Amino acid sequence: ASSNAQAPLFTVQSPNVTYSDDAIVSKYVYRQTKVTKSSNGGYVATPKETAYDFKVERKVGRVGMMLVGWGGNNGSTVTAGIIANRQGLSWDTREGKQSANYYGSMVMSSTVKLGADSETGEEIFVPFNQLLPMVNPNDLVIGGWDISGMNIAESMDRAGVLEPTLKQMVRKEMSQMVPLPSIYYPDFIAANQESRADNILEGSKACTEHLEKIRADIREFKSKHNLDKIIVQWTANTERFADILPGVNDTAENLLQSIASGHAEIAPSTIFATACILENAPFINGSPQNTFVPGVIALAEKHSAFIGGDDFKSGQTKMKSALVDFLINAGIKVKSLASYNHLGNNDGKNLSAPSQFRSKEISKSNVVDDMVAANNILYAKDEHPDHTVVIKYMPSVGDNKRALDEYYAEIFMGGHQTINMFNICEDSLLASPLIIDLVLIAELMTRVQWRANGTEDAEFKGFHSVLSVLSYMLKAPLTPPGTPVVNALSKQRNALVNIFRACVGLEPENDMTLEHKLF
Ligand code: NAD
Repeated sequence: ASSNAQAPLFTVQSPNVTYSDDAIVSKYVYRQTKVTKSSNGGYVATPKETAYDFKVERKVGRVGMMLVGWGGNNGSTVTAGIIANRQGLSWDTREGKQSANYYGSMVMSSTVKLGADSETGEEIFVPFNQLLPMVNPNDLVIGGWDISGMNIAESMDRAGVLEPTLKQMVRKEMSQMVPLPSIYYPDFIAANQESRADNILEGSKACTEHLEKIRADIREFKSKHNLDKIIVQWTANTERFADILPGVNDTAENLLQSIASGHAEIAPSTIFATACILENAPFINGSPQNTFVPGVIALAEKHSAFIGGDDFKSGQTKMKSALVDFLINAGIKVKSLASYNHLGNNDGKNLSAPSQFRSKEISKSNVVDDMVAANNILYAKDEHPDHTVVIKYMPSVGDNKRALDEYYAEIFMGGHQTINMFNICEDSLLASPLIIDLVLIAELMTRVQWRANGTEDAEFKGFHSVLSVLSYMLKAPLTPPGTPVVNALSKQRNALVNIFRACVGLEPENDMTLEHKLF
């Protein structure tokens, strides 16, 4: 059926790669460089090889995407976008005919170099989504929850993002889509959201009933639509941070107990994450708050369930993690980053409250740390560029967020370089393709397994519960406890591409092109 059964665009011819009807299995040698400090203060670098077997299940199956905050700007926009693509729609705009596409989705609209033509040497590129069998977003079955009871067609109108001509074409189908009632603990989102909260479960603090209801919703959606798996994503309002309290949300056991006893520091998003872990549905947090308190991470590890987060990296931060990486790698000392935003959508309204803004500020603040720490020529230990983030609610501009950024840097011999950027675009049209990519990659990760040393009798197992491979799409990437965070955009993309390549037994793309340099 549909895209699931397609023959692959390429196969790898190698003794280390085998294809069966069910799986692609690769034997892969992972090459690292281990470094020790030598007695004279220098380093000794030693190449290290580790052999892994990777197995990718080829059958994708039927996949559901459930969004928390389905009736928001992102939720309604991504839904309309998928329907429009599924139906191959074109619509009139003032600039002419526009056809549905997946621009902005790395998985759907970017390519990866496969190799070079054996005769001409010309580089051959394939769509990213052809590296491994992946679900086609057109095939996703969409559902979800919202504290606002509007159907998704009305939500699309409220969002004010899409062209009226397009809206007309998808309206009928979307008016049948109605979000499930959700959990609303007023203390966690801005008070200005109260007026839309007309579709809520009874009770305003954590309880086992809420947890069980969300679990039941997931199971019912799965059986109703005959799905093999469901990926859940939080694209609801930004919550305030929860306090991490010993005995409350620090361990898996304490977390479950605190839900049962109705502790006030358990956020709705944490209930959703817990429900998903217990239903073994991957859960991704697209907002900045600390949904993944230590107890949630521990619970996910215990159940080998996948979680990923936090906060979509759509605009300003994405630019930052590309531009600062470039500047510092060019040997230029970034001294300060000043970021202003104004936006007029409901996200902006929610973020106009101090504790919700604080969540965003935290999530946006550490995004250059790894790049700064990597260069001890430019920066002393613990030295950081100044970094300020301002967000203001300006209703008139709606979803067309304005982001003004000044990068101030020190160049050769005490000179200064000031770069200013002014970025305008529809926020939800940046976030929607990320929502899709996160679902597609998380789904794939449920079918990727590994084992060490190529021992034939060892069991294959999944990647770590915390899916740091999703980092490219996320502002404050969650990584397995104790492991480093990578924010640099090119590194994040390389990690994804090269892990995918390893799964089909291909070497990492190294851009050396010695064939054009040595003859
Ligand atoms: P939005 O306000 O339009 O949508 C959020 C929706 O969540 C609303 O419909 C609201 O009713 C609903 N909601 C709130 N609490 C809920 C709950 N407990 N359960 C179910 N539904 C609930 O916002 P948006 O523009 O769609 O953005 C969604 C989130 O994504 C925000 O937190 C935002 O900060 C984050 N984000 C967006 C972008 C982007 O749009 N470019 C980038 C990064 C992060």
